[in-house]
Amino acid sequence: MSSPIAKLSFWGVRGSTPTVDPATWRYGGNTPCLELAAPDGTKFILDCGTGLRVLGNRWGADGLASSATTHIFVTHYHWDHIQGLPFFAPLYDQKNQFQFYSFRSKFLGPDSLRQVFEAQMALPYFPVDFSAMTAQRKFREVDGGETFQIGENKVTTRWLNHPQGCLGFRIETPAGTVVYATDNEPGVPALDMNLRELAAGADIFINDAQYSPAQLANERKGWGHSSWSEGVRVARETGVKTLVLFHHDPDSTDRIVDQLLRQAREEYDSVFAASEGMVITLGAASEPVQAHMPGSRTALRREAQFHACVTGVTAEGQKFEEDTLVRDLSIQGALISLKHSPRMQSEVQVVMRASGTDGVQEMILRGYVVRIEEGAEKGTTAVGVVFTD
Ligand SMILES: [Zn+2]
Ligand SMILES: [Zn+2]
Repeated sequence: MSSPIAKLSFWGVRGSTPTVDPATWRYGGNTPCLELAAPDGTKFILDCGTGLRVLGNRWGADGLASSATTHIFVTHYHWDHIQGLPFFAPLYDQKNQFQFYSFRSKFLGPDSLRQVFEAQMALPYFPVDFSAMTAQRKFREVDGGETFQIGENKVTTRWLNHPQGCLGFRIETPAGTVVYATDNEPGVPALDMNLRELAAGADIFINDAQYSPAQLANERKGWGHSSWSEGVRVARETGVKTLVLFHHDPDSTDRIVDQLLRQAREEYDSVFAASEGMVITLGAASEPVQAHMPGSRTALRREAQFHACVTGVTAEGQKFEEDTLVRDLSIQGALISLKHSPRMQSEVQVVMRASGTDGVQEMILRGYVVRIEEGAEKGTTAVGVVFTD
């Protein structure tokens, strides 16, 4: 008998504002948007940040499109959670049906989310008329403390501590339980309790981890966000299986997120840092969580056979060193030492050669010169190349 499978995809993981800084590309710069495909075929979208545009572009691939209604949950109305809506292509196709869930904001009144749509697309903020959005849209107001059923899945909502309010969602599917708790700050007992009720025994607990514990205790106190150590604390107290650090600060480079993740992993067994393109598969309850990155989004891939010596750390924490062959290499760029000085932003071709099992391997790459500096050796230039083709 096959066990039910749920698939959780991360389309946007950045908090507050999108980033295009190359130092943030690995975790990704799009603002919050998650997709959960439940075993019964129900499709959930969690938040409508700029990641929603990317999800929309994949609509139709991987069986994403269907005649069934897609259920879209919006946690709150801050820009980073709604900004993808006007750019979500499936909303402009009358074949598609969406059921939206969000709360009634005291600042907006009844039909809060519908008003958000209209306001975002009002002149002069957006060039396309609202009437062009021909997909069927239904809106349901939800409050904290509700529990309801969608297909075979149970949804629970709770208020979280965040300026102007934010809802956390717990979705129990036959394959496992996913808890989405972005944008929340510890420190209000009743709301801290809400977070724990949501998280209790979850397979996947996605929690706000925007700040370091030191920032949260000092200069970022009261800003409505949390840290990896708070996530670990809640995960421990409530028996969460896997913690996912989410809503990365726009000023957190990949190296900073790496460091936050490393610290969290010293304290808790199963932790991931949410990363654009990451997919988590939830299977039978007894199996460990599977997470994988389906290839780099931007890097080039080349089949190759290069000898390599790989050193690292095993899942059990043991250091290892191993000689192997590299195949299917993905490459973003290189720093090359040249006697010539190529023109900035001109195209270069780089052919790399290395001996593999079948003789000399050749890899041909075209790239763009993005940086020129004085080389380490006299008379040489250090040339930064981003590969494009
Ligand atoms: Zn946010
Ligand atoms: Zn917010």
